Amino acid sequence: MLRQRQKGCVIRTHTTGRRDPVRTDPLDSTFDPEGYVRKTATEELLPDAQEMTDDALNVAGFPAYIYRKRKCGRYCSCNDKHFYTPNSECLVCFGTGRVGGYDKSGFQTDVLDVSYPKQSKYNVIINPNVKPNHYELNPVKIEGVVVFEVPIPKCQYIDKLICYVSTPKNTSFEMFVAPESSNNFQPATRELINSYINGGVSKMQLQVTLKRDNTTIESPTLTHVYVRWAVSPQSFLLNLPNLTKSIAGGDFQLPDIFETIEMEITHKVGELSTEDFFEIVKTGDRLKITEITAHDPIHINLGYSGSVRPVTDFEVYKSIP
Ligand SMILES: [Zn+2]
Repeated sequence: MLRQRQKGCVIRTHTTGRRDPVRTDPLDSTFDPEGYVRKTATEELLPDAQEMTDDALNVAGFPAYIYRKRKCGRYCSCNDKHFYTPNSECLVCFGTGRVGGYDKSGFQTDVLDVSYPKQSKYNVIINPNVKPNHYELNPVKIEGVVVFEVPIPKCQYIDKLICYVSTPKNTSFEMFVAPESSNNFQPATRELINSYINGGVSKMQLQVTLKRDNTTIESPTLTHVYVRWAVSPQSFLLNLPNLTKSIAGGDFQLPDIFETIEMEITHKVGELSTEDFFEIVKTGDRLKITEITAHDPIHINLGYSGSVRPVTDFEVYKSIP
Protein backbone atom coordinates (compact mmCIF):
# COMPACT_ATOMS: atom_id res chain seq x y z
CA MET A 1 0.00 0.00 0.00
CA LEU A 2 1.19 3.45 -0.78
CA ARG A 3 1.52 6.09 1.81
CA GLN A 4 1.63 9.81 1.25
CA ARG A 5 5.07 11.23 1.82
CA GLN A 6 5.81 14.90 2.02
CA LYS A 7 8.59 15.86 -0.32
CA GLY A 8 11.84 16.62 1.47
CA CYS A 9 10.66 15.28 4.81
CA VAL A 10 11.63 12.04 6.42
CA ILE A 11 8.58 10.54 7.99
CA ARG A 12 9.05 7.55 10.22
CA THR A 13 6.49 5.05 9.20
CA HIS A 14 7.68 2.05 11.08
CA THR A 15 8.45 1.55 14.75
CA THR A 16 9.45 -1.68 16.30
CA GLY A 17 8.65 -2.28 19.92
CA ARG A 18 9.13 0.03 22.82
CA ARG A 19 11.97 2.53 22.90
CA ASP A 20 13.36 1.98 26.37
CA PRO A 21 16.47 3.99 27.20
CA VAL A 22 19.52 1.85 26.56
CA ARG A 23 22.37 2.05 29.02
CA THR A 24 25.44 3.30 27.17
CA ASP A 25 28.57 3.19 29.25
CA PRO A 26 31.81 3.27 27.22
CA LEU A 27 33.97 2.82 30.32
CA ASP A 28 32.29 -0.44 31.17
CA SER A 29 34.15 -3.33 29.53
CA THR A 30 30.89 -5.20 28.93
CA PHE A 31 29.59 -2.42 26.68
CA ASP A 32 29.35 -3.73 23.13
CA PRO A 33 29.16 -0.88 20.61
CA GLU A 34 29.02 -3.31 17.65
CA GLY A 35 26.12 -5.18 19.18
CA TYR A 36 24.32 -1.94 19.76
CA VAL A 37 24.74 -0.80 16.17
CA ARG A 38 23.68 -4.19 14.87
CA LYS A 39 20.59 -4.17 17.08
CA THR A 40 19.62 -0.75 15.77
CA ALA A 41 20.15 -1.91 12.20
CA THR A 42 18.19 -5.12 12.46
CA GLU A 43 15.37 -3.80 14.58
CA GLU A 44 14.88 -0.33 13.18
CA LEU A 45 16.78 0.80 10.10
CA LEU A 46 16.45 -2.27 7.89
CA PRO A 47 12.77 -2.98 8.58
CA ASP A 48 12.11 0.66 7.65
CA ALA A 49 14.20 0.30 4.52
CA GLN A 50 12.37 -2.90 3.65
CA GLU A 51 9.01 -1.21 3.86
CA MET A 52 10.15 1.84 1.93
CA THR A 53 11.69 -0.29 -0.83
CA ASP A 54 8.42 -2.15 -1.08
CA ASP A 55 6.49 1.10 -1.40
CA ALA A 56 8.86 2.26 -4.12
CA LEU A 57 8.50 -1.01 -6.04
CA ASN A 58 4.74 -0.80 -5.76
CA VAL A 59 4.60 2.47 -7.65
CA ALA A 60 4.98 0.80 -11.03
CA GLY A 61 5.19 -2.66 -12.44
CA PHE A 62 3.44 -5.47 -14.25
CA PRO A 63 1.40 -7.90 -12.17
CA ALA A 64 3.06 -11.26 -12.73
CA TYR A 65 2.73 -14.82 -11.51
CA ILE A 66 5.80 -16.77 -10.54
CA TYR A 67 6.43 -20.31 -11.75
CA ARG A 68 8.91 -22.06 -9.51
CA LYS A 69 10.75 -25.21 -10.50
CA ARG A 70 9.83 -28.18 -8.31
CA LYS A 71 12.60 -29.37 -6.07
CA CYS A 72 10.80 -32.36 -4.66
CA GLY A 73 8.05 -34.75 -5.68
CA ARG A 74 7.75 -37.93 -7.71
CA TYR A 75 10.40 -38.80 -10.28
CA CYS A 76 9.17 -38.74 -13.85
CA SER A 77 9.02 -41.95 -15.86
CA CYS A 78 10.82 -40.24 -18.77
CA ASN A 79 14.22 -40.83 -17.25
CA ASP A 80 14.84 -44.48 -16.44
CA LYS A 81 15.29 -43.72 -12.74
CA HIS A 82 18.30 -41.58 -13.60
CA PHE A 83 17.03 -38.33 -12.26
CA TYR A 84 19.75 -36.32 -13.89
CA THR A 85 18.88 -37.20 -17.46
CA PRO A 86 15.22 -36.27 -17.89
CA ASN A 87 13.87 -35.76 -21.36
CA SER A 88 13.93 -32.03 -22.03
CA GLU A 89 10.77 -32.27 -24.14
CA CYS A 90 8.77 -34.33 -21.67
CA LEU A 91 5.33 -32.84 -21.02
CA VAL A 92 4.94 -34.67 -17.70
CA CYS A 93 7.94 -33.03 -15.99
CA PHE A 94 8.90 -30.34 -18.54
CA GLY A 95 12.47 -31.54 -18.48
CA THR A 96 12.87 -31.16 -14.71
CA GLY A 97 12.73 -34.86 -13.84
CA ARG A 98 9.99 -34.16 -11.27
CA VAL A 99 6.39 -34.87 -12.20
CA GLY A 100 4.60 -31.54 -12.72
CA GLY A 101 7.82 -29.59 -13.16
CA TYR A 102 6.73 -26.15 -11.97
CA ASP A 103 4.37 -24.59 -9.43
CA LYS A 104 2.50 -21.37 -10.14
CA SER A 105 2.29 -18.90 -7.23
CA GLY A 106 -0.96 -19.35 -5.33
CA PHE A 107 -2.03 -22.46 -7.26
CA GLN A 108 -1.80 -26.17 -6.49
CA THR A 109 -0.90 -28.53 -9.30
CA ASP A 110 -1.65 -32.27 -9.31
CA VAL A 111 -0.34 -34.37 -12.14
CA LEU A 112 -1.96 -37.77 -12.62
CA ASP A 113 0.49 -40.01 -14.44
CA VAL A 114 1.68 -43.62 -14.17
CA SER A 115 3.47 -42.82 -10.87
CA TYR A 116 0.35 -41.34 -9.24
CA PRO A 117 -0.33 -43.39 -6.11
CA LYS A 118 -4.17 -43.61 -6.15
CA GLN A 119 -5.28 -45.06 -9.44
CA SER A 120 -7.00 -48.12 -10.84
CA LYS A 121 -7.20 -49.49 -14.39
CA TYR A 122 -9.62 -51.74 -16.27
CA ASN A 123 -8.64 -53.19 -19.64
CA VAL A 124 -5.76 -50.72 -19.72
CA ILE A 125 -2.04 -51.40 -19.31
CA ILE A 126 1.00 -49.24 -18.71
CA ASN A 127 3.59 -49.35 -21.47
CA PRO A 128 6.99 -49.07 -19.76
CA ASN A 129 8.91 -49.06 -23.04
CA VAL A 130 7.98 -45.52 -23.97
CA LYS A 131 9.41 -42.57 -22.05
CA PRO A 132 7.48 -41.08 -20.36
CA ASN A 133 5.40 -44.23 -19.80
CA HIS A 134 1.83 -44.13 -21.02
CA TYR A 135 -1.45 -45.98 -20.63
CA GLU A 136 -2.84 -47.93 -23.56
CA LEU A 137 -5.61 -50.45 -24.15
CA ASN A 138 -5.04 -54.09 -23.34
CA PRO A 139 -4.21 -55.61 -26.79
CA VAL A 140 -7.43 -57.64 -26.87
CA LYS A 141 -9.78 -54.86 -25.68
CA ILE A 142 -11.52 -52.06 -27.50
CA GLU A 143 -12.46 -50.03 -24.43
CA GLY A 144 -10.83 -49.42 -21.07
CA VAL A 145 -10.60 -46.90 -18.26
CA VAL A 146 -8.13 -45.37 -15.82
CA VAL A 147 -9.58 -43.91 -12.62
CA PHE A 148 -7.62 -41.51 -10.43
CA GLU A 149 -8.68 -40.59 -6.93
CA VAL A 150 -8.04 -36.86 -6.57
CA PRO A 151 -8.26 -34.90 -3.29
CA ILE A 152 -9.92 -31.51 -3.81
CA PRO A 153 -7.99 -28.85 -1.86
CA LYS A 154 -9.65 -25.89 -0.19
CA CYS A 155 -9.58 -23.52 -3.13
CA GLN A 156 -11.51 -20.91 -5.10
CA TYR A 157 -11.98 -22.76 -8.37
CA ILE A 158 -10.46 -25.31 -10.75
CA ASP A 159 -8.02 -23.52 -13.02
CA LYS A 160 -6.84 -26.24 -15.43
CA LEU A 161 -7.87 -29.76 -16.34
CA ILE A 162 -5.83 -30.98 -19.27
CA CYS A 163 -5.73 -34.50 -20.62
CA TYR A 164 -2.60 -35.50 -22.56
CA VAL A 165 -3.77 -38.17 -24.96
CA SER A 166 -2.99 -39.36 -28.42
CA THR A 167 -5.93 -40.60 -30.48
CA PRO A 168 -5.05 -42.25 -33.78
CA LYS A 169 -7.76 -42.62 -36.43
CA ASN A 170 -10.93 -44.46 -35.25
CA THR A 171 -10.05 -44.08 -31.58
CA SER A 172 -11.33 -41.65 -28.95
CA PHE A 173 -11.17 -40.69 -25.32
CA GLU A 174 -13.53 -39.15 -22.79
CA MET A 175 -13.10 -37.70 -19.33
CA PHE A 176 -15.62 -38.11 -16.51
CA VAL A 177 -15.76 -37.14 -12.86
CA ALA A 178 -17.76 -38.25 -9.85
CA PRO A 179 -17.64 -37.28 -6.19
CA GLU A 180 -15.84 -39.74 -3.92
CA SER A 181 -17.72 -42.99 -3.30
CA SER A 182 -20.36 -42.20 -5.90
CA ASN A 183 -20.88 -43.93 -9.21
CA ASN A 184 -22.56 -40.94 -10.75
CA PHE A 185 -19.90 -40.27 -13.40
CA GLN A 186 -20.59 -37.25 -15.61
CA PRO A 187 -18.56 -35.52 -18.31
CA ALA A 188 -15.85 -33.41 -16.65
CA THR A 189 -16.74 -29.74 -16.93
CA ARG A 190 -15.52 -26.65 -15.14
CA GLU A 191 -19.01 -26.00 -13.76
CA LEU A 192 -19.37 -29.49 -12.35
CA ILE A 193 -15.97 -29.52 -10.62
CA ASN A 194 -16.56 -26.00 -9.27
CA SER A 195 -19.86 -27.26 -7.86
CA TYR A 196 -17.90 -29.97 -5.99
CA ILE A 197 -15.58 -27.28 -4.61
CA ASN A 198 -18.46 -25.09 -3.52
CA GLY A 199 -20.32 -28.07 -2.10
CA GLY A 200 -17.38 -29.04 0.09
CA VAL A 201 -16.64 -32.34 -1.72
CA SER A 202 -13.18 -33.33 -0.50
CA LYS A 203 -12.30 -35.97 -3.11
CA MET A 204 -13.32 -36.77 -6.64
CA GLN A 205 -12.78 -39.67 -8.99
CA LEU A 206 -11.50 -38.73 -12.39
CA GLN A 207 -11.97 -41.31 -15.10
CA VAL A 208 -10.38 -41.35 -18.53
CA THR A 209 -11.98 -43.74 -21.02
CA LEU A 210 -9.98 -44.94 -24.01
CA LYS A 211 -11.83 -46.47 -27.01
CA ARG A 212 -11.09 -47.88 -30.44
CA ASP A 213 -13.28 -49.37 -33.13
CA ASN A 214 -11.56 -52.77 -33.15
CA THR A 215 -8.43 -54.49 -31.86
CA THR A 216 -6.61 -54.40 -35.18
CA ILE A 217 -6.04 -50.66 -34.93
CA GLU A 218 -3.51 -48.84 -32.82
CA SER A 219 -4.59 -47.99 -29.27
CA PRO A 220 -5.21 -44.44 -28.10
CA THR A 221 -2.71 -43.52 -25.36
CA LEU A 222 -2.78 -41.37 -22.25
CA THR A 223 0.35 -40.02 -20.57
CA HIS A 224 -1.21 -37.88 -17.84
CA VAL A 225 -3.86 -35.47 -16.67
CA TYR A 226 -2.80 -32.01 -15.48
CA VAL A 227 -5.04 -30.56 -12.75
CA ARG A 228 -4.52 -27.11 -11.26
CA TRP A 229 -6.47 -25.52 -8.42
CA ALA A 230 -6.67 -21.79 -7.68
CA VAL A 231 -5.96 -21.86 -3.95
CA SER A 232 -5.21 -18.14 -3.55
CA PRO A 233 -3.86 -16.82 -6.86
CA GLN A 234 -1.01 -14.50 -6.06
CA SER A 235 0.61 -12.10 -8.45
CA PHE A 236 3.41 -9.65 -7.69
CA LEU A 237 4.39 -6.38 -9.28
CA LEU A 238 7.34 -7.09 -11.50
CA ASN A 239 9.22 -3.87 -11.99
CA LEU A 240 10.89 -3.55 -15.37
CA PRO A 241 12.51 -0.12 -15.10
CA ASN A 242 13.25 0.21 -18.83
CA LEU A 243 9.73 -0.74 -19.86
CA THR A 244 7.80 1.37 -17.37
CA LYS A 245 6.75 3.87 -20.02
CA SER A 246 4.42 1.40 -21.63
CA ILE A 247 2.33 0.98 -18.50
CA ALA A 248 0.30 4.11 -19.08
CA GLY A 249 -0.74 2.89 -22.51
CA GLY A 250 -1.52 -0.53 -21.15
CA ASP A 251 0.88 -2.13 -23.61
CA PHE A 252 3.59 -4.55 -22.85
CA GLN A 253 6.17 -4.48 -25.58
CA LEU A 254 8.78 -7.16 -25.16
CA PRO A 255 12.23 -6.51 -26.54
CA ASP A 256 13.85 -8.86 -29.02
CA ILE A 257 14.30 -12.50 -28.24
CA PHE A 258 17.27 -13.24 -25.97
CA GLU A 259 17.72 -9.61 -25.04
CA THR A 260 17.76 -9.39 -21.28
CA ILE A 261 15.66 -6.90 -19.36
CA GLU A 262 16.47 -5.44 -15.98
CA MET A 263 13.99 -6.27 -13.25
CA GLU A 264 13.21 -5.62 -9.59
CA ILE A 265 10.69 -7.27 -7.31
CA THR A 266 9.58 -7.17 -3.68
CA HIS A 267 11.07 -9.43 -1.03
CA LYS A 268 7.55 -10.72 -0.43
CA VAL A 269 7.80 -13.18 -3.31
CA GLY A 270 9.97 -15.46 -1.17
CA GLU A 271 12.75 -17.54 -2.70
CA LEU A 272 13.60 -17.01 -6.37
CA SER A 273 16.22 -18.61 -8.58
CA THR A 274 17.35 -18.63 -12.18
CA GLU A 275 15.33 -21.84 -12.64
CA ASP A 276 12.08 -19.93 -12.18
CA PHE A 277 10.10 -17.70 -14.52
CA PHE A 278 7.39 -15.03 -14.50
CA GLU A 279 4.13 -14.82 -16.41
CA ILE A 280 2.71 -11.35 -17.05
CA VAL A 281 -0.91 -11.65 -15.91
CA LYS A 282 -2.39 -9.41 -18.58
CA THR A 283 -0.62 -10.70 -21.66
CA GLY A 284 0.44 -14.22 -20.67
CA ASP A 285 3.98 -13.39 -21.78
CA ARG A 286 6.62 -15.40 -19.98
CA LEU A 287 9.95 -14.11 -18.75
CA LYS A 288 12.72 -16.44 -17.64
CA ILE A 289 14.93 -15.23 -14.80
CA THR A 290 18.51 -15.11 -16.04
CA GLU A 291 20.09 -13.40 -13.08
CA ILE A 292 18.88 -12.70 -9.56
CA THR A 293 20.38 -10.97 -6.56
CA ALA A 294 18.74 -10.72 -3.17
CA HIS A 295 19.55 -7.53 -1.32
CA ASP A 296 19.76 -8.84 2.19
CA PRO A 297 22.10 -7.03 4.55
CA ILE A 298 22.21 -8.92 7.86
CA HIS A 299 19.71 -11.42 6.45
CA ILE A 300 16.91 -8.91 6.03
CA ASN A 301 15.71 -9.10 2.45
CA LEU A 302 15.04 -5.68 0.93
CA GLY A 303 13.98 -7.12 -2.42
CA TYR A 304 15.50 -8.65 -5.51
CA SER A 305 17.05 -7.26 -8.63
CA GLY A 306 18.30 -9.07 -11.66
CA SER A 307 17.36 -9.69 -15.23
CA VAL A 308 14.87 -11.64 -17.29
CA ARG A 309 14.49 -12.58 -20.94
CA PRO A 310 11.40 -13.39 -22.99
CA VAL A 311 10.61 -17.09 -23.41
CA THR A 312 10.52 -18.20 -27.03
CA ASP A 313 7.90 -20.35 -28.71
CA PHE A 314 10.12 -23.39 -28.98
CA GLU A 315 11.10 -23.51 -25.31
CA VAL A 316 9.58 -25.91 -22.81
CA TYR A 317 8.55 -22.99 -20.54
CA LYS A 318 6.03 -22.08 -23.19
CA SER A 319 4.25 -25.43 -22.99
CA ILE A 320 3.68 -25.34 -19.22
CA PRO A 321 -0.04 -24.68 -18.63
ZN1 LIG B 1 9.57 -36.30 -17.69
